[in-house]
Amino acid sequence: MHQILRIYNSLTRQKEVFQPLKPPFVGMYLCGPTVYGKAHLGHARAAITFDVIFRYLQHLNYKVRYVRNITDVGHLERDLDEGKDKIQQQAQLEAISPMEVAQRYTHTYHKNMEALNVLPPSIEPCASGHILEQIAMIEKIIAQGLAYIIDGSVYFDVMQYNQMHHYGKLSGRGIEASRSGTRTLAKQTDKKQRVDFALWKKAMPMHMMRWPSPWGEGFPGWHIECSAMSTKYLGNQFDIHGGGMDLLFPHHECEIAQAQAALQTNLATYWIHNNLVTIDGVKMGKSLGNFITLDALFTGSHPAIAQPYSPMALRFFMLQAHYRSTLAMTIEGLKAAQQGYRKLMNGLHLLTKRPHEGATPTHTSGLLDAAIDADCVACYSAINDDFNTAKVLACLFNLLKKINGWYNGTLDDGSISTTAWGQLRHTYTTFVSDLLGLKEEHPSTTDQTLTMLLPIYQEAKAAKRYHQIDAIRTALHKMGIAIKDHPNGVDWEYQ
Ligand code: ZN
Repeated sequence: MHQILRIYNSLTRQKEVFQPLKPPFVGMYLCGPTVYGKAHLGHARAAITFDVIFRYLQHLNYKVRYVRNITDVGHLERDLDEGKDKIQQQAQLEAISPMEVAQRYTHTYHKNMEALNVLPPSIEPCASGHILEQIAMIEKIIAQGLAYIIDGSVYFDVMQYNQMHHYGKLSGRGIEASRSGTRTLAKQTDKKQRVDFALWKKAMPMHMMRWPSPWGEGFPGWHIECSAMSTKYLGNQFDIHGGGMDLLFPHHECEIAQAQAALQTNLATYWIHNNLVTIDGVKMGKSLGNFITLDALFTGSHPAIAQPYSPMALRFFMLQAHYRSTLAMTIEGLKAAQQGYRKLMNGLHLLTKRPHEGATPTHTSGLLDAAIDADCVACYSAINDDFNTAKVLACLFNLLKKINGWYNGTLDDGSISTTAWGQLRHTYTTFVSDLLGLKEEHPSTTDQTLTMLLPIYQEAKAAKRYHQIDAIRTALHKMGIAIKDHPNGVDWEYQ
């Protein structure tokens, strides 16, 4: 049933059969957030993409070590080699210390991820906790003659590196293109070439986060952090390195160069990049000022959205697009996702209703069984095809039609065999809950209310107490729940 998993590898620009280095172990690294502000939709897309990958690899019985870092130092404004540290800048704005900024936004990030049902990674290292490892890696690069020291800062020598290796193999950019593509620096640094990048920066008086090093007091460059943390926990060569498309160049290109220079490896076999969230046709990002935070989306406090959207509606919205496509944030899209999510959940709820085990079908044409089997196989084909969650959802809605058909009486109950029904139920719940990570969102008090009110509703119905019937329906309606009357009882579903 599981078939073969194929992954699009940004490094080779093609889909490849997934073959871990040391099965059953899989090492996966994702560039985590720079914690200087509240998480927004872009953060959610990366986290959800790799959460589905993490879940599916575990479903395939791999023992996955998933490392997702926290960047709490060294990420300078506009991703350049000069300027203020993003976290320090925020600290000045909020009149608190940089570590308080990092702590505050790490905490809100975790809260948001939990609401989105994103599983915690196996290891979550922070850059400021791995300064020694970064210094050691820089020393190795210097020893190879591929970095130079100028006035307390260390720079990677891209031209020298490119004599023996290929700088640009991930992004496909030649050095010349990279040089012209690098944004103009406000102040030209002391580095030899514009394309060179900082491994270690001398701390200026304004820099509050600083550490001693063989080159004087300073702080690490953003790129070296990820190379040092990934290899510390996953080894010099590991299976998957991921991140948003905007990190592919220069961040990931530099990570590869650093690993090649210091460790003589490619760093990772498969490079996976999720595409961006756009709003009005342009990338959504904090540095661009056009972002919607997750908190604002969940509470409806952003002026552009007018109403709250739940974390699961957002998760569904993101899963509806393949991770390599751009995702346009629209109100219509969010509304449709909320509806789609509730329909899928109704399916899960209905599946708990059928006490089918042991029942003998009256007759089986085999046609529906074959259709169910085809839909279940298609779910696996879709996820094996580079984690195509958009196709998975389409297959799940085909299965949902059968579930609803049985429930509404438009399908002949007997025409689905026990085996096929079991297969449907198993596949549907596995994909919806375990792999796509969609969960019931209503609080446990809703369950208690339903348990209490449904019998009262039934009694009222039998006694034709219409006043009471209306009151119960109205109360549940306010909770987003509709009562369904059936010949042999009552049930509920999301509206
Ligand atoms: Zn990174």
